[in-house]
This record gives sequence, C-alpha cells and structure tokens, in this order.
Amino acid sequence: MSEVSQLIEKSVEGETLTRGEIAQLLALRDGGACREMYRAADEWKRRLWADRVTYVVNLNLNPTNVCVQHCGFCNFRRSDGDAGSYRMTLDDCLQHIAARLHYGITEVTIQSGLDSKTPVEFYFALLREIKNAFPRLHIHAYSPEEIAFLGDRTGESYRKIIERLKASGLGSMPGTAAEILVDDVRRRLCGEKVMTAEWCEIVETAHRAGVRTTSTMMYGHIETVEDRAAHLLRLLDVQRRTGGFTEFIQLPFVAARAPIAIKRGLQSPETVEAMNVIAVARLLFRDELPHIQAIAWVKRGLDEAVQSLHCGADDLGGTLIEERITRAAGADFGGYVPASELCARITEENLRPVQRNTLYEILESHPSQAQSVLGNTTNNEAPLQQSVVE
Ligand code: SF4
Repeated sequence: MSEVSQLIEKSVEGETLTRGEIAQLLALRDGGACREMYRAADEWKRRLWADRVTYVVNLNLNPTNVCVQHCGFCNFRRSDGDAGSYRMTLDDCLQHIAARLHYGITEVTIQSGLDSKTPVEFYFALLREIKNAFPRLHIHAYSPEEIAFLGDRTGESYRKIIERLKASGLGSMPGTAAEILVDDVRRRLCGEKVMTAEWCEIVETAHRAGVRTTSTMMYGHIETVEDRAAHLLRLLDVQRRTGGFTEFIQLPFVAARAPIAIKRGLQSPETVEAMNVIAVARLLFRDELPHIQAIAWVKRGLDEAVQSLHCGADDLGGTLIEERITRAAGADFGGYVPASELCARITEENLRPVQRNTLYEILESHPSQAQSVLGNTTNNEAPLQQSVVE
C-alpha cells in the first residue's frame, strides 16, 4: 500500500492526521495520488450528505473601506481621504439592502475596514436598524478583527461586546481575519492584526455566547504547507472545544493586485493546491466540521468551484451580491451569480442543489435526476450517518 493510501486509510478509520501527514497530503502533485485522495474525500462527503450540495442567497454590505491597517493581501482598504475611500450612512446601508431584497436574500454579510472615525455606536445601530426594517434577514457580521477593534475602542471585554451585538440583532459572525493561524506568518502578512491565540479566543467567546461563526483559511501566499497544516489543526482544536463553526471556507490568495504579491512577485496558488485543501479538509474534519465550502467562485471562477464538489466539498457558498473585497484584490469573476445558475451548475454534475440559510437549515430543495437516499428533503437534513443511526 502506498504512503498516501495509508494516510487515507488512517483518516477513514477515524484517526486524526498529524501535522506532518496533513502537510504531505497538501503537497501532493502526482495525478494518480491526488485522484485517490479526491475519491476518498468525495466518499466521505457522500457518506454524510449523499448527492446534496447547498448554497445560500446572500448579500454583501461593506459600510466603509477606510481602514487603519495595511494587510499585505488587501487592495480593498483606503486611508481616510484617499481617492476612492467611502463611508456609508445608516440610511445608505438600509437602501442598499432594500434595493436588493427582490433577489430573495436570506442573509446579509457585513464586513468593513477598521475606521476609527466610524462611531462605535454605528456597529450596534446598524444591526438594530436592519432588524427593524427587515426582521427576517439573518445578519452575519463583523470578523474577529472587528470585534478586537471594538474591544480596543470601548475597553469592554469580547464577551460583553459580542453579547451587546447579539442583543442588537447579530445572528452569526464570519470567521475571517484568520488568514493563516501561525504567528510568524501573521507578523509578515498582516502584522497589525490579532495574533493566533487572540483570534481563537474571540471565536471561542462568540461560540460560548451562542453566536456561531464560519472558519476560514486564506492561503497560497507566503506560508508553507506545514503552516497550512498547523492552521487546519488549530481550527479542529477550536471545533472540538466549542462545536461552534458552521463550516470551513478556504480562500485562495488572489495575487493580481495584492500589495504583497506586487512587492514580492507572488502568484495565486495553483488549482491542484486548492483541490488538495478541499480534500484534506474533508479527510481531517469529517463529521466534526461537516460542511466544507467549495473553492470560492468569486476568487477562482465557477468552473473550479464546481470541480471541487467532487473533491469533498458539500456547499457552493453564496450568491454574494455586491462582493467588493475580492474584486478589489484583482479577481475577475464578477460579484454575483444568480441562484438559478448555481442550481444549474450543481445539477449538471448530477448533484442535488438545496437552498440553505446561514446556519445550514434547509429552505428549499431542487430534486435532480440523481436520487437522494435521504428521502424527505424539505426539512432540515441531518448528516446521513446520523439519519441512519436514528
Ligand atoms: S483585510 Fe481588512 S483589516 Fe486588513 S487592510 Fe484590508 S480592510 Fe483592513
């Protein structure tokens, strides 16, 4: 049995791979070995979710691009007064949402630059105003870095801030600003951001306050495969303590206009690296973190995103109306894909598209030619393993 087969078998038997083993799988380039890994990851996905692929209809809202930090991968930020800098008022934000309700959005995702001139109260008032105007919308808002920024400005504990945000209407938080959770990499890539321990402390505090978050990894810049492996293990460690991550989202670095790429001549990661991340995440997280999002279409295009549905991913992500941050970094795949197109692409793969909300509750199912073994598809669907046990 090859070394790769042994690692796959170890994972299938329920053992946690070590950092070195994860790095070895992430670094695979041999076509045969990669295909073997993708097949094993796809089998794991099918054991949990059969032919189901979920998506969410969501809207992005970025109230300001003014930011006091200077992350090496970010071309979205502007300094106060720069050409192209903007700040939206509460009314602008409400109008932005109202004008796009006809898309059938169930979620608004809010992330901003860290702007010291935006009053702290704006963060809370925005949630309250959105909830008042659109009570059925789920608000997925404020990265751990924004929570840290509010903590610095108010002197309040993370717990207090998150509880106040929750009372104002916060539904869940993006687990962004994670980048690579290895301090040496963070210092070189985004040295003004919170370090690893603090990022983990904030998300764990959110989970314990009843606010779930996504988990993310932004990779393919200056880190090594060992750093990626350490990052994935760190996420698994948090998940085992809190169970608060809804999903894992991998975010390939977009080099085109990223300052650090221009300075150092970096390229975006290759397709095989992205597929390997999906497959390894599935083999490592299995049913402990059961939702793996496909390669972000906004960064790499729908073809690659759809391809990754055969490598262990079970979710195609969101329609992402008005995505700005990735496009600012130079990705050229548009800021919106209609739900009908996501469904059509899923069905073409002989998979079954299912609309979910932010917390993976099922909203609508689109039966495809591929028959589901899950039976009733109109209610919330538990992982297949659980259904069988029940
Ligand atoms: S990634 Fe966020 S925190 Fe970093 S510079 Fe860009 S807007 Fe600011």
